[in-house]
Amino acid sequence: MGYSKEIYDKAFKFISDTKKAKEQAYLHSLDALRGLDKNFRDIEVSLSKLGSELVMVAFSGNTKRLDEIKEECEKLTAEKNKILKAARVEKPGFYCDKCQDSGYLGGSVCGCVKEVARKFAFEELSSSLPLNDCSFDSFDLNFYPDTDMADGSNPRKRATAILNLCRQFANDFPSVNRSLLFMGDAGLGKTHLSLSLVREISAKGYGVVYGSAQNLFSAAEKEHFSFSGTQTAEESLLNCDLLVIDDLGTEFYSAFTASLFYNIINSRLLSGKPTVINTNLSFNELEKKYSERIASRFIGGYDMKKFIGSDIRQIKALKNI
Ligand SMILES: [Zn+2]
Repeated sequence: MGYSKEIYDKAFKFISDTKKAKEQAYLHSLDALRGLDKNFRDIEVSLSKLGSELVMVAFSGNTKRLDEIKEECEKLTAEKNKILKAARVEKPGFYCDKCQDSGYLGGSVCGCVKEVARKFAFEELSSSLPLNDCSFDSFDLNFYPDTDMADGSNPRKRATAILNLCRQFANDFPSVNRSLLFMGDAGLGKTHLSLSLVREISAKGYGVVYGSAQNLFSAAEKEHFSFSGTQTAEESLLNCDLLVIDDLGTEFYSAFTASLFYNIINSRLLSGKPTVINTNLSFNELEKKYSERIASRFIGGYDMKKFIGSDIRQIKALKNI
């Protein structure tokens, strides 16, 4: 799973914190029982004394006394366990029996860590999404006119085809061999479908990074020039299972972001990791702004889809007047 290092660190910490909290709770319960039950206290004291005596007698060779002590210990331990059971004080079990809370199994990260990481990644991503009601089901095709345009295209038919493509993409993920490039004017549903993809695919347990080009690039740029030695933002852009870049073309474009963007597009294509990109720019404008070699990567590895129709945000706003 292509989660960031922070998410894995958080997952490991969660498991070790859970373990500590359980142990702490167990010790508190024992203390409380000692305070309430004199008999329990006495048994613990006797067991402790017998334990010390056992060590000495074991060296003395007095087997008769040794047997007596062992028998007495067994009796007292049984009594102690009875009290613990009645008070429902149990030794804490493991969060994960498989790895016994170490987080590793046979040299690799245990499934329990991956499961917690998946939960954290999904929560973190969901809380950072700009709109929370975007899904394939809430994508309303009625906003797209069912009329043939001068060039023969039909906005409704095209939107339906793109919606079906996205559903298929989410369904097949990660076995998809193409990335997606959504083009078209603002307010035509590009972000809606991208966010629906983000939701569906992250809910399936994959590491998804979503953000506007401005936010994603500037996070990597800031990190690069902070010389802190960490490259987590850039690494996430390169290695996450699915990268979704919104609003490409509106970001501040520098020499750094130009090379970063090429590296992202190229590396992800080479490693077979899909990317979804939204832009208001036309293909010619993209080629002009980001160079021919990026445009050729789009042609080679992306399904390019142009949204057409009327600005849905405007239609919605007019409806509410
Ligand atoms: Zn485990």
